[in-house]
Order: sequence, then C-alpha cells, then structure tokens
Amino acid sequence: MKVYKFGGASVKDAEGIKNVANILNASKNEKVLVVISALGKTTNALENVVSAIANRTGQSGDFLAEIKQYHLDILLDLQMNSSLAIQNEIENLFLELDCIAEHGFEGQSYDFIYDQVVTFGELLSTKIVSYFLLGEGIKNQWIDSRNFIITDARHRDARVKWVDCEHMIGKRLKPLAEKNLIITQGFMGKGPSGETTTLGREGSDYSAAIFTYCLDAESLTIWKDVDGLMNADPRKFEDAQLISEISYRDTIELAYYGASVIHPKTMQPLKAKEIPLRVKSFLNPKKKGTLVHKNAAQLETACFIHKENQMLISCRTKDFTFIVEDQLSQILSILAKEKLHVGIMQNSALSFMVTTDNRQNKDEIIAELEDAGFRPELKSNLQMLMVYNSSKMPESLKGKTILMHQQTDSSAHYLYE
Ligand code: ASP
Ligand code: MG
Repeated sequence: MKVYKFGGASVKDAEGIKNVANILNASKNEKVLVVISALGKTTNALENVVSAIANRTGQSGDFLAEIKQYHLDILLDLQMNSSLAIQNEIENLFLELDCIAEHGFEGQSYDFIYDQVVTFGELLSTKIVSYFLLGEGIKNQWIDSRNFIITDARHRDARVKWVDCEHMIGKRLKPLAEKNLIITQGFMGKGPSGETTTLGREGSDYSAAIFTYCLDAESLTIWKDVDGLMNADPRKFEDAQLISEISYRDTIELAYYGASVIHPKTMQPLKAKEIPLRVKSFLNPKKKGTLVHKNAAQLETACFIHKENQMLISCRTKDFTFIVEDQLSQILSILAKEKLHVGIMQNSALSFMVTTDNRQNKDEIIAELEDAGFRPELKSNLQMLMVYNSSKMPESLKGKTILMHQQTDSSAHYLYE
C-alpha cells in the first residue's frame, strides 16, 4: 500500500484537481490512501474568519461568502455544478460554518474555535476531490480523518496518541484501504472530548506520515509544485539544485530549520519504520524527484535555508542575578505556553537570547516575561539564514548586521536585520 499527499497548491484550481485525477489514474493498480489539504489558500482565508468570529468584527459572513464562491467556482470549472450530491455537501458544510459564525463557541478559547473552523477547508476539498474522482470513474471512499488521527487537546498543535492511532488505522482503516482508494484530510484530528484538533499549520505532511506508519505502507509520496527537495529555495537562490537522494537525518535537520518543502514532524514516523519518502512534482510526475531512504549517503552539498519574519527575544534579569537553570526553565516554559517554536538559543551569565517566528501578541509575551522577573526585549521582522554543510559565510551576508551567529559541526545560523 502507498500513501500520497497533495498540498493546497496542487489543488488550488480545477486544473489541479484534474491533475490529481490523472496521477491517481496512473496508479490504478496500486492500493493508495490519499491525504489532501484545503484548496489553495483556503486555510489562510478561514483564519480570517476565526479572527472575525473571536473579535466579533461582524465580517465573518463576508469572508465566508468569498470562500464559498471560490469553492463554487471550482465546482463550476469542474462541470460538477449539476451534481446535486456535491452541491448539497458543500451547502451543508457552509451552513454549519454560518451557524458557528453566528453562535460561536461561547466561553471557548481562541485556539479551540480555530480548530473547529479552519478544518472545514479540508472537509470541503476532500469532498470535492472525492466526488470529482467518482465522476471520472475513479472509485474511492471518502473518510473523516478525525476518526483515525487521535490526539490530545492541545489545540493548534495537537500531539498524536500513537497507540490509539495504530489501533484505529491498523485495525479499522486498513481493511478498507486494502479494498478501496481512500480520500481523506490532512491536518486534522480528534481530541479527548471528540472535538476537532489540528496538528499545526502545514501539518498534512505529518498526517500522511502517521497514516503511512500505522498502515505499514511501503512508501509515502508528497506531491509538490517543485521537482523535489532542493539545496535552497529556487525562488530565492539562482543556482538551487535538486537533491536526488537524502538520508532521514539530513532531511530532519533541513525540515526542522525551515526547508518549507516538508513539515518537520513528518520524518520521525517514517524513520522509525524506515519507510521511504518520495517528494515529487505534481506538474512533472514522470520526473524522479527526491528519495529519502535509509541507504542514502550523508549529504555533502551545502544547503541554504532562508526565513523571514523572525523574532529575537532577549532576556536579562532585573537585578543582575545570573541567568541559570531556574531562570532558563522559567523563560522556556513561558515560550512553550505561548506555543512559540524556538529556533536557536544562546546564553551568557546575564542574558538569554532565543529566536522564534514573529508573533502579533508581542506585548503579552513581554508582559509575561516581565511578570516573571525579567527585562525582555523583542525585535521582530528579522531574517535567518541557515547554512548546512558549509562553514563559509555566504557572500549575500556581507555588509549585513548579524545579531546572532551560531556554528555547529554541520550547520551555521545567521540572524540579521
Ligand atoms: N491546510 C493546512 C494549512 O494550510 C494544512 C496543510 O496544508 O498542510 O496549513
Ligand atoms: Mg494548506
């Protein structure tokens, strides 16, 4: 059995969905489970709906109408507008969303509401793809991934309950997947009270890896709009090269530090069972792409990962006491509570510096650190360049103010303005 994952970019319009059908047609003789993200930028659009609901701005109706129109236009382009079944499905999902927007979830946290709302993107996309495939004669079964991806209640960044997933996927889903092509959602799961949870933005790769692991599938293929894993983002680096084979370890390092091609958590389940991962272009499915597997040699090519919207948090103590273990654990637990993902860290006797992605609620973070007895300073909109497999400072950094530099045997990080 194989698992395929298609991201939002691969299904952003009718052409994309037809392309998915072609790829699945070419895999007709295989047993495949397909994980699909929300269409195009739907998740971003739904995030705006969540803000409007939470802040009661009165705009959620307009935002939802736009999202609905986008999906209806795609149905029209796919000539599915005469199919009553899919029209009803879409109408019902938007009816549910409208009801949520009107009555909200009184007393629930922002993160809880977020998970209940944004996951409609995945429900909509998988319904559309599933019905389209049926119309094209590609028999398939739509399933709700929440019944199989079981998580804790940590909304927007839920942790997977592996034993439950293995049971549900291995025992309940596998027999179905042996018989039918399965179409399901990425990104979402089910928490302890039956509520919807999510695995973090771009988490569909991770969902696909969970299914792959629990099904004992022979491989996972992530279909992308690039030819595979590159040593740098081709939109930013002119001579970016394709990496044709790479080890789990090198891939984990690159993904962790922000190679946006793969969600960082994806590799762990695959590595645990040494299941190969293919990253392939959905535009050129005949091209080989990248193969991540256990026999790949250690990567020698230098890799460059550039990230914008970085934030530097610097903390000193108010009374010049040292920043040692207790203070460090206090600071880090505040960051963990805020669900900030730490990039690199550095400490001296009196200060601690850590990088994370930009955050809008900067003032709240500052206030929390001040309450805990620190003198924090936050700088946003910085850039980070991570260089893997080379200790030479890249030419592009010459003349830049480097705020933090960290060097290990395999990588160097440069934070700059
Ligand atoms: N649709 C979700 C997102 O855009 C999940 C994913 O694409 O992996 O973050
Ligand atoms: Mg997406």
